[in-house]
Amino acid sequence: MSSSYGGMSAFDRLRARLNGRPHACEECGFVDEEGSWEAVTTGATVEYRRECPSCGTERVQRYQF
Ligand SMILES: [Zn+2]
Repeated sequence: MSSSYGGMSAFDRLRARLNGRPHACEECGFVDEEGSWEAVTTGATVEYRRECPSCGTERVQRYQF
């Protein structure tokens, strides 16, 4: 009677949600539909980073669990 989500953690679900939508660069407007977010965890905080393939601007989304 345990509640399992098939090994999908909140961490994975959040990344899947970010990867599920295209990201438009705020600097140059390039829409990156293929890129994926790189996750970095620091304690209770997780940062998702991605770099614009067009202009190289780094975008960071920070979440706390
Ligand atoms: Zn850009």
